[in-house]
Amino acid sequence: MCAAKLPDPGIRPVADVDTGGRETLNPFHSAQMLIGNACRELGLPQAVYEYLKEPARVLIVSIPVRMDNGEIRTFIGYRSQHTDVIGPTKGGVRFHPQVDLDEVKALSMWMTIKCGVLGLPYGGAKGGVVCDPGQLSRRELEALARGYIRAIANMVGPEKDIPAPDVNTNPQVMGWMMDEYSKLRGFNAPGLVTGKPMILGGSAGRAEATGRGVVICAREAMRRLGRSLRGATAAVQGFGNVGSNAARFLYEEGAKVVGISDVRGGVYNPDGIDVYQALEWAREHGTVAGLPGTQPIGSADVLYLPVDVLIPAALENVITLENADRIQARVIVEAANGPTTPEAARRLTQRGIFQVPDILANAGGVTVSYFEWVQNLQNYYWPEEEVLEKLEQMMVNAFNAVYKVHQQRGVSMRRAAYMVAVKRLADAMQARGWI
Ligand code: GLU
Repeated sequence: MCAAKLPDPGIRPVADVDTGGRETLNPFHSAQMLIGNACRELGLPQAVYEYLKEPARVLIVSIPVRMDNGEIRTFIGYRSQHTDVIGPTKGGVRFHPQVDLDEVKALSMWMTIKCGVLGLPYGGAKGGVVCDPGQLSRRELEALARGYIRAIANMVGPEKDIPAPDVNTNPQVMGWMMDEYSKLRGFNAPGLVTGKPMILGGSAGRAEATGRGVVICAREAMRRLGRSLRGATAAVQGFGNVGSNAARFLYEEGAKVVGISDVRGGVYNPDGIDVYQALEWAREHGTVAGLPGTQPIGSADVLYLPVDVLIPAALENVITLENADRIQARVIVEAANGPTTPEAARRLTQRGIFQVPDILANAGGVTVSYFEWVQNLQNYYWPEEEVLEKLEQMMVNAFNAVYKVHQQRGVSMRRAAYMVAVKRLADAMQARGWI
C-alpha cells in the first residue's frame, strides 16, 4: 500500500450511526458500511472513504412516453456515476417498479468495487427506470428505452459512462439505446453500451457471461472445500438471464440442481431437475412453476433447501437476519447484487457458511462487457473461445486474489474482496494526487 497508514482513521460503519445497530436494509447504507469497513481494515486515511462514500454525480430525469392509448405518461429514471478515479464509469440499467435513488446509488458503488476486484479500468455506475416492463407493450418499452438514453445522453458515452443490461433489460433494449444515441450524435457509436445484439457489435459470450462467472466461482469455492461440482447439490433463486444460465452451467458441470424458483413460484426435485427441460418450460410458460416431474415450492423456500451450493440470483435483501438461520447451504454464491444484508452475512459466516460475495461472483458480466467495449473501440471482434478463455482466466485470478486476502488477513471473502478493490482505488487516488 503506498497510501500512508494511519492507526485509526476513525471511519465508522454507517450502520452504527444511522440504524442504531439495527439491520441495514437500505442498500446505500450497506454499500457505505462495506466500503468504510474495508478502508478501516486497510488502515487508509479517512480521505479515501470521503471520496467513496457518495456517488460523484446522480442524474434524475423524467421520461415522457406516448402510450398505446395515445396518452402521455411520465416515468422517472436515474443514472448514478460513482467515481472517476479509475476510468469511465460502467454499469447496467434496470427497469423495475421498486427502483429508487438509494438503490441506484448503492448499485453504482457496488459496480466500482466489482470493477476493482476484477482490475477493470472503470469506476461504477448504475441506472434505473421506475416501471413495470411486464405491463408495457413492445412499442412502449422501446419508446421508454429511447427516451431514457435521450434524457441522459450528455452524461454517457464510450469514454464517459457505458450502460449495459441489468434486471429486466436485455440486448434488444441495449440495441434501441445504442441506435438512439448514434442518431443523436450523428455517427455509429457501438461503444456506448455493452450487452448489445451481436449484429450491432455485441460480444460473443456476453449473454451467458454472468452465469458462467457465477459457476466458475462455485467451482473454485467447492475446490477450496475439497469438493467438486460434479454430484454436488444446488438451488437457484431467480430464473432470469443470470439464474437460468447459472443453473444451466451447474447442470452441465454435473451438479444436481434440486430447486429453482422465480417470482411466480418454485420447483423442487430431490433427485435433480433436468435444467434443459426447465429452460424450455420457462420459455413457454414465463415461469418454472408447474414444471412436470417436480414438487411445487414457494419462491423464497428454495433458499432453505439443504444443498451444497445456493445461488441467490434475484434481487437485494433476500437473506436477512430474519431468515439467515434457516439457510442450510454449505456455500452461497451471490449471483444477484446485494442479496445478503451485512448483518446476515456475518451470521452466516459465524455458522461456517462460505460466501462468495456478489462483487466477485457476478462480475463475469461486466468483465465480458469490458471485452465488448474493447472490441468496439478496436473494431476488431474476437471468437467466442477467446472471450471464454479470458473470462475464465480473469475470474480465477480475481477469486485467487480475494481468497489470498481472506486467508492471510483472516477476514471474510466479502471483506477481502472489498479490500482488494478499495486498495486499488486508494492507489489510483494517490497516483492522481487526490490524497
Ligand atoms: N448489470 C450487470 C452487473 O450488475 C452488468 C454491468 C455491465 O456489464 O456493465 O454487473
